Amino acid sequence: MLDNLTILEASKLIDEKKVSALEITNSYLKKIEDSKKLNCFITVSHDKAVHAAKETDNRVSKNNRIGPMDGIPLAYKDLFCTKDTLTTASSKILSNFIPTYESTVTNNCINKGAITLGKLNCDEFAMGSTNKTSFYGPVVNPWKSLDSDEELVPGGSSGGSAASVAADLCIASIGTDTGGSIRQPASFTGAVGLKPTYGRVSRWGTIAFASSLDQAGPISKTVEDAAILLQTISGHDNKDSTSSQKPNEHYFSNLNSSVKNLKIGIPKEYMSDDLPLEIQNYWNEGKKILSENGAEIIEISLPHTKTALPAYYIIAPAEASSNLSRYDGVKYGLRTNEKNLIKMYESTRSDGFGDEVKRRIMIGTYVLSSGYYDAYYLKAQKIRSLIKKDFDNVFKDVNAILTPATPNTAFAIDKEEKDPVKNYLNDIFTVPINLAGLPAISIPFGLDKKGLPVGMQLITNSFEEQLLLNIAKNIQDSINFKNEPKCWWK
Ligand code: GLN
Repeated sequence: MLDNLTILEASKLIDEKKVSALEITNSYLKKIEDSKKLNCFITVSHDKAVHAAKETDNRVSKNNRIGPMDGIPLAYKDLFCTKDTLTTASSKILSNFIPTYESTVTNNCINKGAITLGKLNCDEFAMGSTNKTSFYGPVVNPWKSLDSDEELVPGGSSGGSAASVAADLCIASIGTDTGGSIRQPASFTGAVGLKPTYGRVSRWGTIAFASSLDQAGPISKTVEDAAILLQTISGHDNKDSTSSQKPNEHYFSNLNSSVKNLKIGIPKEYMSDDLPLEIQNYWNEGKKILSENGAEIIEISLPHTKTALPAYYIIAPAEASSNLSRYDGVKYGLRTNEKNLIKMYESTRSDGFGDEVKRRIMIGTYVLSSGYYDAYYLKAQKIRSLIKKDFDNVFKDVNAILTPATPNTAFAIDKEEKDPVKNYLNDIFTVPINLAGLPAISIPFGLDKKGLPVGMQLITNSFEEQLLLNIAKNIQDSINFKNEPKCWWK
């Protein structure tokens, strides 16, 4: 009865006093303990979780439950600072960092009564799309191919956040998305992953990768749960000057799955012969479903799509190189013992950062250096404006855009990729959306012939998360996908 619960189902059980929050929490803690093979968690907050669950039960006994999140066990990507709980960004350089404060995202969840099960593995500083750059080792996808026993990547960088939802180690989780890190792993694991509009969710207390692109968002089993979670974590925050002043919305109670008379754009630039036939077929099925349900499907053009990835891989490393300069062994985190200060900086950073992070710092420093700034960084910023303009133009004619979430499905962890640029291609469909600051969602759509999940992406204009969720719900209700990988890991 406590397996595969959604937020809505668990909330009902708690409300009706059929199960206590403590029983639910203990059952998840047990599942986490039994599923170490997946390597989803860096830290399990056992005592914190039990304590919070007892507090929920106390409120429930007085008929004082705060709302639908009260008593719901969640887990967070290890990029959100959590008071008195280790927060590593999956990096050796932060492997001893215990924040004295709570991020706004986690604080918002805690204030609504949610239970913190622990902190989830991810790519180091959220750089990657396989979860293989983590200092704590790769996360394993709970899904396996029908014809092979190989362990697969869950996608990244929020790999632990997606895999833990698919393996039912938490009811839902929170990840971050700088170029696709919520949507791509959601797609690889059969979960729903929502990246909100830039500024909808406060970044305060979230370890920064590329500040003009980073956004936190939910990974869940259903669109309804994504709506509840978005409502929980979003809203203005004085502590983040980029957080929007727009009032928070009641995404869940306003959920309405009608797509009648909506115009859905299909960008021709997202289609290529390299896109696997099965993904093309699901994309066509998506168009068919929406059209049968009353929407109009329109071909659109986003002409600068192919420049998005190169622009992203200049802007994101540039911001990362600046953000990561704070890790120098002086104030917090790892410090190696050296006789002089410069040597201490050098050896702390060379010992503390992994290869991918170092690659990004070097690229970022290079594109920002004098002489190259105009040629690379400034040019990339100009391209970013053109990409945003492409979307502004199409949103004059359509309400939303439908594309595949990823150009592939999950692949083997052991697949050695020598060329980092090939890995960067995983985000080809997700990166333009971050550059334009728009909201987008990945929803599970079906399985490929290997039995692995395929996700579809919906994109809307800024702050139209309600519409995004509504269309996603329409698709979800039309296909009835079950995120239940065969359990082999216990
Ligand atoms: N895979 C992309 C990168 O490595 C996106 C990461 C993210 O969204 N955090 O930059």
